[in-house]
Amino acid sequence: MKLKVFKSCYYILLILFILLFYTKDIHLFGNKFYKNIKIIKEEDDMLVLVNKNNKLTKSFVPPFLEKIDKKYAHDEKYLRKEARVSFEKLSRDAKKKGLSITAVSTYRSFDYQEGLFKNYVKEKGKKYALKCSAKPGHSEHQTGLAIDVEGSNKDYNLFADSLEFNWMRKNAHKYGFILRYPKGKEHITGFKYEPWHYRYVGIDVATIMFEEDLTLEEWKEKYG
Ligand SMILES: [Zn+2]
Repeated sequence: MKLKVFKSCYYILLILFILLFYTKDIHLFGNKFYKNIKIIKEEDDMLVLVNKNNKLTKSFVPPFLEKIDKKYAHDEKYLRKEARVSFEKLSRDAKKKGLSITAVSTYRSFDYQEGLFKNYVKEKGKKYALKCSAKPGHSEHQTGLAIDVEGSNKDYNLFADSLEFNWMRKNAHKYGFILRYPKGKEHITGFKYEPWHYRYVGIDVATIMFEEDLTLEEWKEKYG
């Protein structure tokens, strides 16, 4: 009899563990994103955290925006000075290895993001817009420290399939950039996996984040 009870308990626990494992990313009490939104105070801080819960103001324009050398960007693309210098160095070094890393989207103003988001809603519906874009004030692109890149296959959507992506995975942090929305961390960042989107945080912080496999949210929690 005792053995039977023990066995039942064992199976119940096992089932509970399995259920817990497969539902850990499902927010049973609703989605935490775009709720309890904080307005960011130090907007021009190089390590600023912009996400679905931390918002930049409409009037914020980052200081020292500079144009990226046309060799490494599509048309006129702007980043903050430190990020611009580092990105050009990264692209130059990649080029020496026969790789091509080009900026396709960099600084985007609040108004531009507003138009972009509205357009997504209009064309593909709100659900898609929320999944694939950010509401104005919630896009890291407004900081002038974020960059979307493409490789030699000339499609940022397919960047993960390029040789350049492989190089970026191993080297981006050496130039102060991090892969901002990694696979498997969607429940932390609030954004789907984006192999093309990088964020400048400086070499020291990028190296820690790379070595400890941390997102910016996790780094802030641990060290910020
Ligand atoms: Zn991006």
